[in-house]
Amino acid sequence: MTDRIPGFSTLAIHAGAQPDPTTGARATPIYQTTSFVFDDVDHAASLFGLQAFGNIYTRIGNPTNAVLEERIAALEGGTAGLAVASGHAAQVIVMHTLMTPGDEFVASKKLYGGSINQFNHAFKNFGWNVVWADPDDISSFERAVTPKTKAVFVESIANPGGIITDLEAVSAIARRAGVPLIVDNTLATPYLCKPIDYGADIVVHSLTKFLGGHGNSIGGMIVDAGTFNWSREGRYPMLSEPRPEYSGLVLHETFGNFAFAIACRVLGLRDIGPALSPFNAFLILTGVETLPLRMQRHSDNAKQVTEWLVKHKNVAWVSYPGLAGDKYNALAKKYCPKGAGAVFTFGLKGGYDAGVKLVSNVKLFSHLANIGDTRSLIIHPASTTHRQLSDAQKVQAGAGPDVVRLSIGLEDPADIIADLEQALAT
Ligand SMILES: *Cc1c(COP(=O)(O)O)cnc(C)c1O
Repeated sequence: MTDRIPGFSTLAIHAGAQPDPTTGARATPIYQTTSFVFDDVDHAASLFGLQAFGNIYTRIGNPTNAVLEERIAALEGGTAGLAVASGHAAQVIVMHTLMTPGDEFVASKKLYGGSINQFNHAFKNFGWNVVWADPDDISSFERAVTPKTKAVFVESIANPGGIITDLEAVSAIARRAGVPLIVDNTLATPYLCKPIDYGADIVVHSLTKFLGGHGNSIGGMIVDAGTFNWSREGRYPMLSEPRPEYSGLVLHETFGNFAFAIACRVLGLRDIGPALSPFNAFLILTGVETLPLRMQRHSDNAKQVTEWLVKHKNVAWVSYPGLAGDKYNALAKKYCPKGAGAVFTFGLKGGYDAGVKLVSNVKLFSHLANIGDTRSLIIHPASTTHRQLSDAQKVQAGAGPDVVRLSIGLEDPADIIADLEQALAT
């Protein structure tokens, strides 16, 4: 490539990759090895002391995973990435780097259900306390900030209800509080929205969804925007204090604008251990090559399906930010101008029983708990993922008895609509 700045589609195919130096292999090889041979004792010592970059052991880093890390960081406009075993692992590693027991973080209460569980329960065991805020009332983020706050966490397009978060407004609050803004960009992907352009300091992903895109691999990613000053006020000791594990090295001082990604790798991933398999990294890389094509089609298909659903006599409401007149349509136009993604909810006039019937009657749609596959997916949260909640709790979580969630795939839109039509008719 010349000194032109490559476009998004070019980066999706080429960023981080080059022909294999020993074999000439053009596709990125799967380096299915646990460990890597040192040149000599001095080389080993410099790798272990972080004086040189290189491969030691696949729990800490792997050349296939490194291509994926560089590619996603390039697509997001960040300085560095870290691949991990799942989206949830990415969230654990990020918080482990930022928090000490007794600390707090402010999170949007409109999040992927698994993240709500993780923050409410698993994180409590580490002494990391979530304080919930409401993305429909941005000032609630400001009110939730205390001297113990170490981060703010939101989703760009929030799962499952098609909520678009006002990233610039939340980032201004995080900036005033002196803490980083973490954005889970799973549902948008960097093709539809680049949170770093709107003030995100850290981006996390479940690669499992649209980035991998084919429903075949679990993975996660952390992207360091390189924007945050970790040394101000010494509130982030992992980054600003001498590390005993590395003979007193101060990570922010040594690694500057990619210190956060390094800390996540050498203090988080190394010690907690959720490493991504290089085989999964290979499958996800293959998916990322077609991300721009897929994401545009996913969004265009979802727009057609929602425009049809809104007019259906058995449908009470459709919550999709891409629809004209939707509550989040103006925010969608600002943050996701190419399309509002493929995941949304709608309500059935027939309530719970109609939801159960619909998921039983679809033929092209798969009834399962995932999103971001080439295939169209459907779930009725009240009878599955949110079954254990009371009716009031279900409604509060956006999973009332009438709610159905769809993740629109890449099939012909006419076939997707025909399947819903026959299933809604019965
Ligand atoms: C699926 C998902 C996660 C969790 O990712 P896993 O890869 O399943 O661990 C986190 N956030 C969002 C928005 C998701 O959709």
